[in-house]
Amino acid sequence: MAGNITFAMIKPYAVKQGFIGPILAIINEAGFRISCIKSTKLGRKEAEIFYSIHKSKLFYEDLVEFMSSGPVIAMILEKENAVEEFRSLIGHTDPAKAKDGTIRKKYATSVQSNAVHGSDSDENALIESDFFFSKKDRY
Ligand code: GDP
Repeated sequence: MAGNITFAMIKPYAVKQGFIGPILAIINEAGFRISCIKSTKLGRKEAEIFYSIHKSKLFYEDLVEFMSSGPVIAMILEKENAVEEFRSLIGHTDPAKAKDGTIRKKYATSVQSNAVHGSDSDENALIESDFFFSKKDRY
């Protein structure tokens, strides 16, 4: 059964470019409830752990460097079938392949700097939410 939460992040370059407001507006309009949100910065070690699944990839080092280069906005989003719904709202990993109207089509600048992260499974949504938010911070 599909879960009702996903973990999302606005990535450093989108934050730097001032896209927090417009991206949050799209998330709101799509019917997600933002149940937890914070501005934070990943340390290098944290970025390594968060993206450890990609450790063997050629882009891993650049990704870790990029994700720890500045503040991010971390959040837990609630909606029925949240993981799939959010993945469809953000669009393809590569913004050049993302559909019109998706967040990545509008705000991503490259495959790496693709504006937002969204969990890819219910299991990872829980793991990633736990990574950023303690239980007492969840409403
Ligand atoms: P996602 O689930 O759509 O975010 O994509 P993945 O889980 O496959 O990749 C995680 C993140 O790694 C992506 O969001 C990108 O920021 C980055 N990434 C993925 N593929 C590439 C690539 O080929 N080159 C670079 N530089 N970064 C990549």
